Amino acid sequence: MHQGRHFLQIPGPSPVPDRILRAMDMPVIDHRSADFAELGRAVLEGSQKIFQTTGPVVIFPSSGTGAWEAAIVNTLSPGDRVLMVETGHFATLWRQMAGRFGIEVDFVPGDWRRGADPAVIEARLSEDKAHAIRAVMVVHNETSTGATSRISDIRAAIDRTAHPALLMVDTISSLGSVDYRHDEWKADVSVSCSQKGFMLPPGLGFNAISDKARDASRTNRMPRSYFDWEEMLKPNAKGFFPYTPATNLLYGLREAVAMLLEEGLDNVFARHQRLAQATRAAVTQWGLEVLCREPSEFSPVLTAVMMPPGHDADRFRKVVLDNFNMSLGAGLSKVAGKVFRIGHLGECNELTLLGALTGVEMGLSVAGVPHRPGGVDAAMKVFEQRTQSNSSPHL
Ligand code: PLP
Repeated sequence: MHQGRHFLQIPGPSPVPDRILRAMDMPVIDHRSADFAELGRAVLEGSQKIFQTTGPVVIFPSSGTGAWEAAIVNTLSPGDRVLMVETGHFATLWRQMAGRFGIEVDFVPGDWRRGADPAVIEARLSEDKAHAIRAVMVVHNETSTGATSRISDIRAAIDRTAHPALLMVDTISSLGSVDYRHDEWKADVSVSCSQKGFMLPPGLGFNAISDKARDASRTNRMPRSYFDWEEMLKPNAKGFFPYTPATNLLYGLREAVAMLLEEGLDNVFARHQRLAQATRAAVTQWGLEVLCREPSEFSPVLTAVMMPPGHDADRFRKVVLDNFNMSLGAGLSKVAGKVFRIGHLGECNELTLLGALTGVEMGLSVAGVPHRPGGVDAAMKVFEQRTQSNSSPHL
């Protein structure tokens, strides 16, 4: 039996703040009532602020996978070609889904250690003189590897080619944690869900939709029903949903948006950068390797750590769970057993993270994984330097 709170340090679902738990602890109300419409309007407008868009955002009662599907079925037709990049496990799953809908995917191979290369996307689109490629589909924060893709650079690369492909971005583990600008970066569909940067339980899937994507949805030929944008957008205009919504998750969403905006999105993004920097300082001190190779693409949301050869990451995670009541993220598919992932997103601050890193450092010792001690000290130094430089000398 463990005392105290479980440390949920996986890269989503992230811990749900007490404030959000309290906001959801409400009676379910009539979803056709005026009270519901007020809630509906508040969450739809609030979500737009987090996507940094003035265009429509739709919210499905689904996981992120449902929101992936919505992006595909509303914009593409069987036989269409799209360009995707193998950044890791989630890009691979999205590709697989597109294939099941009869989409032909040009899948740029990757080594799972960096984000999508804007130059490669530019080259592929430049070669496509006939404009057969209908969409570029990229994962912003590859949760399986801890590498981000530089979406603004990818946008610029697409613009240089004057190619009309849609830009569809999986922001499932980046939204509300990493700077993401749907309008400014001219994303056509941004896909997200509730259990990462929004700090909610799983169960809500989001699509932010550009005018161009909505135009595509008027002529594409993919059968759809539950995920049809127009079915959703009509009642959304008055704050309602076409079917029974996930009412209590929406109470939570209203609170989550308020929390993110009270902290200020720029501060939220800076906090995640700081937590990630401290985590990498610890990993470096331990003498372990971060999976992401490209510093400009280090994820602010999670750090995937490579195990030394001969040591199994899942056994290590079990040692940490059994002894210190902390869940770390598993390595997925290609990197199963080879990496563990430290989530540092959402309801996470300096002291929570230091607790988590302490659990990792003790776990390395208990599991007999060769490492240098002092990782937690290295992370503390990152926070101390920052705090000193920010605080008033008169206090
Ligand atoms: N895309 C990314 C980047 C993810 O991290 C995840 C889940 O972790 C998904 C898609 C799938 O989302 P869900 O598990 O909510 O269906």
